[in-house]
Amino acid sequence: ERPLLVIVGSANTDLVVHTPQFPVPGETRLGSAFQLSCGGKGANQAVAAARLGARVALVGKVGRDDFGQRALANLQQEGLDTTHVYQHPEAATGVAIITVNAQGQNTIVVAPGANHELLPADLDQAVTLLEQAAYLVVQLEIPLPTVLYLVAWARRRGKRVVLNPAPALPLPDDVYHDLFLLTPNETEAEALTGVPVRDADSARAAAQVLRERGVRNVVVTLGAQGAFLHTATYTGLVPAPHVEAVDTTAAGDVFTGALAVALTQNLDWERAAHFACQAAAVAVTRLGAQVSAPYRHELLAS
Ligand code: ATP
Repeated sequence: ERPLLVIVGSANTDLVVHTPQFPVPGETRLGSAFQLSCGGKGANQAVAAARLGARVALVGKVGRDDFGQRALANLQQEGLDTTHVYQHPEAATGVAIITVNAQGQNTIVVAPGANHELLPADLDQAVTLLEQAAYLVVQLEIPLPTVLYLVAWARRRGKRVVLNPAPALPLPDDVYHDLFLLTPNETEAEALTGVPVRDADSARAAAQVLRERGVRNVVVTLGAQGAFLHTATYTGLVPAPHVEAVDTTAAGDVFTGALAVALTQNLDWERAAHFACQAAAVAVTRLGAQVSAPYRHELLAS
């Protein structure tokens, strides 16, 4: 049987409205297109990994509301194991209210709702599933104590944890040495280390700080520049393919999901990052977040 990826993270509903200009406080504006789509970093990474052919389970929490039903149906349709996507009896499913202006800039307000009710006790309930994981993947859109509980459990069980530290939050010093892989973007790498990250050289400096704290492998994503790896067996920049970017939303989620898939297939670090860059490059050529994640047969020939 294929190795199992278990993703512990958020599932949201994205509500996107386009408007020529952002309203100022107190103002009402007439927008144009409205889209409702499934999102959340956990769900996005899980769907990206499943589309690339991995066996994937999501551990998360939605509400017992219409958005929650929709999120569950979507995950099941994508072929994910949702046995441990719980439904909170009162909390609302997480939503992201997104406005996009004519210049393509956006504003986002996230109401985490049920995602913030994903508690250590929920991980205890999922322990049989967690034990089957080849890799555990987690982000920071669920409560930090739940993330830390997962990492501590994984340490005791000898499980490898991939942490995508998004959105950026200060982490306790003793968590780093229990991480197999950390995948910050430029902003997150800077927030964690204080090193301004713009390019391969500054990414190397930030990754070095994180490795000194004990993280075994660090991959800093650098947008159109690609990704900088500081790992046990390879250090250097893996460039992104040149593509016509139309919407980079969820590029980071596709990257992390794809990198995790490559790890379960035992690709070496350079090839794994190359695979993740290929997948993310396809995603940025398409509109939308989760829906832009490519299937394996859509990857660019390399
Ligand atoms: P987002 O917040 O937009 O989801 P992010 O800030 O988390 O993304 P980025 O570093 O911007 O993450 O992008 C992640 C990966 O996606 C990059 O490492 C790269 O492989 C790919 N990527 C992003 N932008 C481009 C681009 N313009 N062209 C090619 N690849 C890209």
